Amino acid sequence: MTSGLAAKQRQPRRHSLAIAASIFALGGVIFTLTLLGAVIGIPMLIISGIIFLIRSRIKMNSIECPSCKTPNKIELSVQYFNCEQCLKTVRKEQGEWVAAG
Ligand SMILES: [Zn+2]
Repeated sequence: MTSGLAAKQRQPRRHSLAIAASIFALGGVIFTLTLLGAVIGIPMLIISGIIFLIRSRIKMNSIECPSCKTPNKIELSVQYFNCEQCLKTVRKEQGEWVAAG
């Protein structure tokens, strides 16, 4: 199992923003390489940089997996995730993080 899905689960907003920023960065580079496209390309690169900046400011929580004690970095809004080490589902129950199955 790849960690891609789990990473999306733990950090959904950061994941989406990384994809958005990558698209803008890639588009920006392609447009900038064509001389006329630089008019569109350079602002795209700037937008990409801004998205990365917003992404880096998202608050994160470090939750220790109850099963294997590996710290998992998750966004504050996340209610459950799969541990990046043991892949067990960890969910929040009455304020406590518990491993399910
Ligand atoms: Zn674990």
